[in-house]
Amino acid sequence: LTFSDLGLDPRLVQAVAKQSFEKPTLVQRKAIPLALAGQDVLCKAKTGSGKTAAYVLPVLSGILKRKATDPTPFTSALILVPTRELADQVHKAIDAFSAFCTKDIQSAKLTDNVSDAVLRSLLANAPDVIVSTPARAWHNIESGALSVAKLQYLVLDEADLVLSYGYDEDMENIARSLPKGGVQTTMMSATLVSDELDTLKGFFCRNPTMLD
Ligand code: AMP
Repeated sequence: LTFSDLGLDPRLVQAVAKQSFEKPTLVQRKAIPLALAGQDVLCKAKTGSGKTAAYVLPVLSGILKRKATDPTPFTSALILVPTRELADQVHKAIDAFSAFCTKDIQSAKLTDNVSDAVLRSLLANAPDVIVSTPARAWHNIESGALSVAKLQYLVLDEADLVLSYGYDEDMENIARSLPKGGVQTTMMSATLVSDELDTLKGFFCRNPTMLD
């Protein structure tokens, strides 16, 4: 199985090839087709498994597909991570994967130490993909700088850790502000069973496919 067998936009397959990824990892083979089919996924994955590409590629592919018929800019994906370091890494990965579709994919991270005015002007362009910690995301949703009214994709990376960093209230607030019709959710977690994960599942997804 190769990346071009997974059903991703060809520009993403090209970007993957440019990074010399030869074939999809196990997590990528399992998660990408399900996410492309619109399913919520809770995936057991640790750092080094290729988990970032496993959730970023289907999100970008979905955005590209929609843009082909509806180019209106709005924030369609929110990727939440527990630390600023991980936000930096994920944002860099998104840049690399969108190397051949830079016009169609705008991304922003909210974790830099910049003023609210700077963030507000960044968000005024309605980036397609936002990478943030839960605290920064909620701060910007609450202030009105970030609109999640049309959000389609939510990703929780290192989901097992998110609550242990004390983000409970932020997560609950974010969940309440999402479109009532629901958004497609992907959770990446080192473990699949914990009270914390049950809490997050209750907030964000109805019936995720579990990938062990
Ligand atoms: P992650 O688990 O997302 O932190 O990824 C770990 C590392 O593996 C990153 O440096 C990726 O660039 C790399 N990587 C991800 N997917 C693949 C792949 N299919 N083939 C080779 N390297 C990969």
